[in-house]
Amino acid sequence: MLKEYRERRDFARTPEPSGVGPSSGEQPIFVIQKHRASTLHYDFRLEVDGVLKSWAVPKGPSTNPRDKRLAVPTEDHPMAYADFEGTIPEGEYGAGTVIVWDIGTYRNLKVDDGREVPMSEALAKGHATFWLEGRKLAGGYALIRTGKGEGARWLLVKMDDEAAEPGLDIVRSRPESVLSGRTIEQMAQG
Ligand code: MN
Repeated sequence: MLKEYRERRDFARTPEPSGVGPSSGEQPIFVIQKHRASTLHYDFRLEVDGVLKSWAVPKGPSTNPRDKRLAVPTEDHPMAYADFEGTIPEGEYGAGTVIVWDIGTYRNLKVDDGREVPMSEALAKGHATFWLEGRKLAGGYALIRTGKGEGARWLLVKMDDEAAEPGLDIVRSRPESVLSGRTIEQMAQG
């Protein structure tokens, strides 16, 4: 599952991890990395079956259930990527600066006829719901695939629950890394 990840990178040049990294154990993790590459985006990653399933979210996550944030699937990343921050050099894949914008654990919420639907199955069917316990984000979120074939799109949506905060613009009010406290501009300066 990590073949594409490895093929795209030259580990002699990029500081990104080449190893697999351990699974998290009892509770699966999620991580959101703010990535200032050719275009700024937020990489949303969920631990599923020992890897980080990944989507690039151009506008980042929202705490408002009315927002539907486009989420473009990208290659699986190794568990070791979850705490990566730093700068990928010019000329390398994804060149630019990365900070860990949020990290935490999640619970799968997807139940069908009283049975918990495994995340991998929910994602294959294009409808996953999960409860995030992050440092910034909390509550239910859904990843939903709409359309078919070439026209298929994934959306990341906040579920309407007690953790929803429609008036909050969290990517603006909390720009910093949850690991280092640094903004992406500060990280880029080294
Ligand atoms: Mn990225």
